[in-house]
Amino acid sequence: MTDGKLILFCGPSGSGKTTIVQHLLKTFNVLAFSISATTRPMRTNEKHAVDYYFLSIEDFKMHIDKHHFIEWEEVYEGRYYGTLKSEIERIWQLNKVVAFDVDVEGGLNIKNQFGDRLLAVFVMPPSLEELHSRLKARATETPETLSARIQKAEHELTYAPRFDHIIVNNTMDKTLSEAELLVKKFLLP
Ligand code: 5GP
Repeated sequence: MTDGKLILFCGPSGSGKTTIVQHLLKTFNVLAFSISATTRPMRTNEKHAVDYYFLSIEDFKMHIDKHHFIEWEEVYEGRYYGTLKSEIERIWQLNKVVAFDVDVEGGLNIKNQFGDRLLAVFVMPPSLEELHSRLKARATETPETLSARIQKAEHELTYAPRFDHIIVNNTMDKTLSEAELLVKKFLLP
C-alpha cells in the first residue's frame, strides 16, 4: 500500500540529501518529487515546475495569506521556500508516494503533521570541515552565502535525534544503499 505515504530526507545544505533523493526517485517508480515553491532566482540548469515553482515574493506571500502551504520558511534572508498543499494532493492523486527535499526545520514541521505516514531520515555530513569543502566545490556559492549555509548547518545538526533514522554520509555508494533499504522497508504493505 502506497496510499498517503511520504518520505523525507533532510540534512544541511551540502550533506548529500539532494543526490540521495534524486537516486531514490530513479530507483523507486512509485516515488514522486514534491516540487517546492521558492522566491530565489532560477539557476541556469533549472526549470519552472520541475525543480521548483519559481514565484515572485508577492505571489508567495499571497499563498501564505491564503494558507496554501503545509509549511514555509524564509530559509535565507529574503529567500522563501515552501510546500504547497496542492502539491501533496497532486502526487497522492497519481497514487504515488511523496518524496521531499526540504531543509531541516521544514522537515520537522512536515514530520509533526504526518506522523507514521512519513519516513523521516536525517543525512549527517561526516564533519563540518567536509561540509565546508563540499559547499566550496559547488561554485554556486559566494563567500557570504557559503558562510550563511555553514552557520545554518551547525544549528541544523542539533536536530538530528528528532528524526526516525540518521545516515552518516561518508561514502555516497554506502549511503545510497542504506537509503534504499530504509525506503524499501517503509514501502512494504
Ligand atoms: P536551494 O536554494 O539550494 O535549492 O535550497 C536551499 C534549501 O532550501 C535546501 O536546504 C532545500 O532543501 C530547502 N528547501 C527546498 N524546498 C523547501 C521547502 O519547501 N521548504 C523548506 N522549509 N525548505 C526547502
